[in-house]
Amino acid sequence: MRFRAAVLNEVGKDLEIDELEMQPLQAGDVLVRMRASGLCHTDLEVIQGSLAYPMPIVLGHEGAGVVEEVGAGVTQVCVGNHVILSWNPHCGHCFYCERDLPILCEPFRHHQPKGHLLDGTSRMQRGGQTVHHYSITSTHAEYTVVPESGAITISKDIPFDRACIIGCGVMTGVGGAVRQAQVEPGSSVVVLGCGAVGLNALQGAKLAGAATIIAVDINSEKRAIARDFGATHTLDARDTNAVGAVLDLTQGRGADYVLEAAGNANVFAVAVEMARPGGDVVWLGKVNVDAEVSFRWGTLMGERRMVRSSYGNGRPVRDFPWLVDEYLAGRLKLDELITRRIALEDINDGFAMLARGEGIRTVVMFDG
Ligand SMILES: [Zn+2]
Ligand SMILES: [Zn+2]
Repeated sequence: MRFRAAVLNEVGKDLEIDELEMQPLQAGDVLVRMRASGLCHTDLEVIQGSLAYPMPIVLGHEGAGVVEEVGAGVTQVCVGNHVILSWNPHCGHCFYCERDLPILCEPFRHHQPKGHLLDGTSRMQRGGQTVHHYSITSTHAEYTVVPESGAITISKDIPFDRACIIGCGVMTGVGGAVRQAQVEPGSSVVVLGCGAVGLNALQGAKLAGAATIIAVDINSEKRAIARDFGATHTLDARDTNAVGAVLDLTQGRGADYVLEAAGNANVFAVAVEMARPGGDVVWLGKVNVDAEVSFRWGTLMGERRMVRSSYGNGRPVRDFPWLVDEYLAGRLKLDELITRRIALEDINDGFAMLARGEGIRTVVMFDG
């Protein structure tokens, strides 16, 4: 079958809307007709070259759609199911899967950087040339093929645009607070950076019952939005006394949990300064893989737990339907996260906005 997709042919260049051919489904494959696909900062890192992937490649790892066809042996999804895609499909039986760490699934970690599906091959071609899959999702396309473990069935009551953002930004942020940090009721939480992940970390902290929720960002508009997402206090990241302000709000101890969602090496260190002795620091953001991050040793005295979390310790099969239910019950904000809806043809414009730090989430909408 033929379909249109946004293809990255070269680092630093615009994506091109091209017609591709999808190869026949293999055992375990799920063909999804995409209905909505979010633009995430990690896609931008591939476009800008700070994350290296083979080209040509179809980006996008935050998508929702309808199952169009399934390969042999698929039992968990049916044709017609509404699904959110997981960018961390896993084999279920490797060294890490057996240790309840599917984020580190060995076939995933082996094949994902090569732009392949879990079986080590691609389903997409252009004029006979292989086109690569990004993070085994490639959602910036009218159709995509994913392994069964990457297609998570959800309620048909949630609109696709709201559903798609659960697949990366919402899971990472809410999961960072609820699943990774396991924020306790009545506790204090600092969230550094109020982009899509940070706002979701704030509403995750609120869902978990945190009493003091401090949002830190350089942008006054984002600090104002942070209040709507559960922040009880906001701080300007450029304030040289931001660490002191956190101490003042936490009886001089520092916060029980600090969630970093700014993706900045200096902020990684500030996050540690803001945590109380015995507190938890969760780094959700990323910097260039070659960047060095340093800490003042004194901040590590008196114990801190520090975790680098890739998907907010999310388990898509458990958590995507839960997050959908939280939205449908009015406890999770998704409408407010989508600041722009665009057609696939306008995707370069959407990424330019993201690069400028404008808006929260832009979503590509596909025709129903
Ligand atoms: Zn993402
Ligand atoms: Zn595995």
